[in-house]
Amino acid sequence: MRGGPIDSHCHLQTLGASEREQALDQARERGVSGFLVPAIQLDDADQVLALCHRHDDVWCALGVHPHEAATWREGDQDRLRALLADPKAVAVGECGLDFYYDHAPRATQEATLRAQWQLAVELDLPVVVHNRDANDTMLGVLADPAFATLRADFHSFAGGLAMAETLRAHDCYFGFSGMITFKRADNVREVIAMTPRERMLVETDTPYLAPVPYRGKPNRPAYVLEVVERLAHELRVSTDEVVAFTNDSFFRLYAKAAVT
Ligand SMILES: [Zn+2]
Repeated sequence: MRGGPIDSHCHLQTLGASEREQALDQARERGVSGFLVPAIQLDDADQVLALCHRHDDVWCALGVHPHEAATWREGDQDRLRALLADPKAVAVGECGLDFYYDHAPRATQEATLRAQWQLAVELDLPVVVHNRDANDTMLGVLADPAFATLRADFHSFAGGLAMAETLRAHDCYFGFSGMITFKRADNVREVIAMTPRERMLVETDTPYLAPVPYRGKPNRPAYVLEVVERLAHELRVSTDEVVAFTNDSFFRLYAKAAVT
């Protein structure tokens, strides 16, 4: 079933087993037709892949989140390359830079990001990117000619208008999350108007960032509907149109998902 929206970023691996199945069923009942689960660290990969293999409508990204960048070891590029051979692994990630929390040293974050992007270019896979308070360094890496062909989803984008303009010039995709429903999020919403529809994705970032009216509660993939509704409102189009162009974006970017 590919009728409803796809939650392009939900960390279902953070939920308990029964909670996770419930969350999937609750979302499907509201018409959600697909789920992309980004790994946080390589030790997640087997669990995340097993989840994907139990469900036709679940795919994953495999990689190392910037918070866990210090776990990256010599040989992990080979380990990740082997994991990405799985047909359900449709992207590299979640990778990126987080200079807000600084859970790993910044130079380590950048090195781990570069190692993963090299692999994405080599394997011709897209990347799921987390970027927080690190625009300058991120743009520096992105400008490296080695990454000229990189295809990226800047998930739950909140990097501001100038950053969005530059990423658009690099042909990047933008993941819109429950943040677009937050009262004080005009800086996130103003990016909507300048983003081409064929570069828009919708996501929940489960279990974080629950949209209004669930704000403050644990987020669930079912609530991607609230993101779709708000996006439709901002663009003055129907929710069906939003679902159509965000699903097109999803299968264009995550092309491996279209065949598995
Ligand atoms: Zn994430």
